[in-house]
Amino acid sequence: MLALRIDPDHSTTRKATGYSRKSDEVNWTRSGEINQKWINSLQANKQALSLSITIEDDADAVFIEEYQWRLQRLNRFIWQITEGQTYIKDIHIRDKTPGDSNSSLHRIVIPKGQLTIPVMEGGGALCKNSGRPDWQVISGGRCYVRILAHEICHGLFGVPNERHGCYCLMQGGLYGIKTKDLVLCDSRSHRPAPITPTSCWDTILKRYSGMKHPNTERFGRAPETLITVTDH
Ligand SMILES: [Zn+2]
Ligand SMILES: [Zn+2]
Repeated sequence: MLALRIDPDHSTTRKATGYSRKSDEVNWTRSGEINQKWINSLQANKQALSLSITIEDDADAVFIEEYQWRLQRLNRFIWQITEGQTYIKDIHIRDKTPGDSNSSLHRIVIPKGQLTIPVMEGGGALCKNSGRPDWQVISGGRCYVRILAHEICHGLFGVPNERHGCYCLMQGGLYGIKTKDLVLCDSRSHRPAPITPTSCWDTILKRYSGMKHPNTERFGRAPETLITVTDH
């Protein structure tokens, strides 16, 4: 779709390929059914995530149900941000377990005493080892979903925090995510600064040659995340 490559906001081309946009929104979105063929291709390309979440406190059933709603929302956010190119296939939640540095067992950790906290003191939430295979997110149990999505983008894609006014979910700092839409900056919208010379999408495309921006496939909606729980 050449017109979109030149201008991702090209209205006629967007509408012709099934996107719509409300007048007060920046995002182009697509509704529709699950495109199973597309989902299978994501699974084959390792773009379907399996996450493990460790809650250090003893969480009750009410909390765990609330948290699952948050995670389903997180899945849709990741789908939106990556233009249907990454989703969370499954999540295993364990409570009453120490979250150590083994990130394959503890990809997201809710530390002791942070169960009902939306924004942790000093940093909201954080991602250790950004962009490495052992990335790990530390957050409160009621972390805002867009902050969780921001941290996961650090982990998966190694994109840095931005503080220079480009319209991007990766704007960092406490309450610093100022974009109301779930978008990452691209070469058109990015405002370069010495510590962030490259747009987020350019960084992602360099790293994952199979991903596209804009993604013009009819990717439909995200499948639900399969969540399993070990409630100790
Ligand atoms: Zn950005
Ligand atoms: Zn930017």
